[in-house]
Amino acid sequence: MKIPFTGGCSCGAIRYECTAEPIMMFKCHCRDCQHVTGSGFAPAVLLPLGALRLTRGQLRYHFTSSMARGKHKRGFCPECGSRMTRGEFEEGEPQFVGILASTLDDPSWFRPQMDIFVSDAQPWDQMDPAIPKFAQYPPPTKE
Ligand SMILES: [Zn+2]
Ligand SMILES: [Zn+2]
Repeated sequence: MKIPFTGGCSCGAIRYECTAEPIMMFKCHCRDCQHVTGSGFAPAVLLPLGALRLTRGQLRYHFTSSMARGKHKRGFCPECGSRMTRGEFEEGEPQFVGILASTLDDPSWFRPQMDIFVSDAQPWDQMDPAIPKFAQYPPPTKE
């Protein structure tokens, strides 16, 4: 992975640039992620808040209720519907923003470190046995 790295949506109306290394990479297998991706899981790259910047276009947002608190905020391209982000660009909680690995210009460097919400995973959803699995959210990390 080269910093900064870039990505965008299917039609090119949304482009972004990120100037920091990811905090964490994981696959979320929850039902919401299944719905919004049309797939078995969402490949997520968590980035520090402020490191991600849109260089073209404006996201539209879709909200689903969260088990943790409040609502999940998911950004997508209003032109082609590509799912792009989760979390906030604004100040406040959470202090990170996530992008879907599939939106990267070079998605090949995505290295998931854990599987989360495997309690919702589908029988046809294949997982890497070598990385940790959590039924729902991972336990809080001490930092
Ligand atoms: Zn688009
Ligand atoms: Zn999910």
